Amino acid sequence: MKQEKILVTRPSMPAFDEYMKEVRDIWNSRWLTNMGEKHRELQASLRKYFDVDGVELFTNGHMALELSLQAMNLQGEVITTPFTFASTTHAIVRNGLTPVFCDIDPTDFTIDVTKLERLITDRTTAIMPVHVYGNVCNVEEIDRIAKKYGLKVIYDAAHAFGVRYKNKNIAAFGDVSCFSFHATKVFHTIEGGAACFRDPELGAELYRLKNFGIRGPECVDGVGANAKMNEFCAAMGICNLRHIDDALAKRKAVAERYRENLSDVDGLQLNPVQKDVTPNYAYFPILINENRFGTSRNEVFDALAQAGIGARKYFYPLTNTFDCFHGKFDVNATPTALHISKRVLTLPLYEELALKDLDRICKIVLECRR
Ligand SMILES: *Cc1c(COP(=O)(O)O)cnc(C)c1O
Repeated sequence: MKQEKILVTRPSMPAFDEYMKEVRDIWNSRWLTNMGEKHRELQASLRKYFDVDGVELFTNGHMALELSLQAMNLQGEVITTPFTFASTTHAIVRNGLTPVFCDIDPTDFTIDVTKLERLITDRTTAIMPVHVYGNVCNVEEIDRIAKKYGLKVIYDAAHAFGVRYKNKNIAAFGDVSCFSFHATKVFHTIEGGAACFRDPELGAELYRLKNFGIRGPECVDGVGANAKMNEFCAAMGICNLRHIDDALAKRKAVAERYRENLSDVDGLQLNPVQKDVTPNYAYFPILINENRFGTSRNEVFDALAQAGIGARKYFYPLTNTFDCFHGKFDVNATPTALHISKRVLTLPLYEELALKDLDRICKIVLECRR
């Protein structure tokens, strides 16, 4: 029997009729974009969910990051990590800023705060850490360092929707926390993103920059972009947000089954359970130590692919080795990130992943052992 392909992720969907009910309102209003009713409703609901002072919605997570940097009017160098999606590094470079790559922690893969301070120069203006896989960065230490040197902190929280740290939503940390609402993320608006902030002036600047830099009908005083979330995307967000607790509970069940199957396997390192953190089970990365497991990450990836299972080498290659940056950065400056990027494999994880499929995935992984 031919097995259906299993991809690394599968978007969460509301009931068709639930979405259509929202779409009906849009049809009736003839207001399709430019901060309409659905946009305002989603913004208000998310402000409550995140429990932050301000939320600005965007076409995607990348524009939230890119325009947050622009809104802060930064110059010089921004310290970040290369173990992330292209977007993080590109947001820095597209602002004319220089990324300075800090190595990552070998267990949770977030920025290694013990190596951060020595990278600060008189040109450093900000830190852009990533809550990678939804793992929480060392927010206290980052905050201490930022205050000591007068640096801005922009979190790439694209993976961290729904994560809580010490009973606070992850959106509350840094000067800005940026989320992606892409179809593949824990919470989505088809395409979309948001920036969460405290400073209302920064919020006004983000609003202006996502709308071409227009301040008033006869005043354009900023070189903005077009990054407004449209009403159909906002409507999808309104529906998905109603079901977010259920979505997180289903993900938790899937992640726990993976843990049952793959814990205590010699040569496999699982994502850590972090102290004081309520996770969102966004991804299930495994680290494969070839010496002990007997098989390389690439061989396990190939074995899964042969069986129609799409695991992903997230995050490989590191952003500081991208072709577009050829010769610009020294990958040996981030040896832990390099080591991990060659050994990590992200297994399929989504709400509706059937446990029998999950067990089959684990069986294939374990059969690779030599
Ligand atoms: C998805 C993602 C982004 C970009 O989000 P988009 O909504 O796709 O633009 C940025 N950073 C990380 C770490 C991501 O995973």
